[in-house]
Amino acid sequence: MRLVRYSHKDKVGYAVLEADQVKVLDGHPVGELHYTGEVLAMQDIRLLAPIIPSKIVCIGKNYREHALEMGSEPPTEPLFFFKPTTSIIGSEDAIQLPKQSEDVQHESELAIVISRLCKDVPVERVADVILGYTCANDVTARDLQHRDGQWARSKGFDTFCPLGPWIETELADPQNVKIECRLNGQVTQSASANQMIHSIADIVSWVSHHITLLPGDVILTGSPAGISRMVAGDVVEVEIAGIGILRNKVASFE
Ligand code: MG
Repeated sequence: MRLVRYSHKDKVGYAVLEADQVKVLDGHPVGELHYTGEVLAMQDIRLLAPIIPSKIVCIGKNYREHALEMGSEPPTEPLFFFKPTTSIIGSEDAIQLPKQSEDVQHESELAIVISRLCKDVPVERVADVILGYTCANDVTARDLQHRDGQWARSKGFDTFCPLGPWIETELADPQNVKIECRLNGQVTQSASANQMIHSIADIVSWVSHHITLLPGDVILTGSPAGISRMVAGDVVEVEIAGIGILRNKVASFE
């Protein structure tokens, strides 16, 4: 099932995507789904980022080759940080380059969406708390990341967390999906999720042993190697097999 968030006229809501139409949901897409009975054509709606979570948790340096290209060994424990929810945009929205940075880069990542309030989730129970998966781009002002020594500013600008195009709830084998990033059609990142140092189950369990996760919370699982600079006019695509394509154009701050 593909869960979408959409706008239509003056209304924003959640729906289930089937072929070229959506079945509108009453309320949020977590727990038992309730349909309003309304059906809208895809051509009449605008897709938004599929969820607005209470928080975006991001795992850093979770692929060995990416840690090495960043000039460091991978951390032995999962390293996590946060992006503000105001950084979220949907597919086809524009990434705005901030005037404070001259080196904004893409990071294509598999994103986990949490289905229920949970804390201290054992590794073997993690599947019970996952709603589904979507594509993410952990956009990063690399120059500011190096200058600041921590990552709140460099990864927290408005528009720095493209998510979408929808939440896939039936991804067959998330730990083995192919993740690809294309910049203006050229492949910059290509990896399998099985190259993660810390697995999806380990990440969710680890994070939940530190902070309570709420329904809709999003966890970015880290970027493979191949991070590249983006400039105004570029088009960046994150494609994850079995989910879809998250596509964003890049615009200058003006
Ligand atoms: Mg990242």
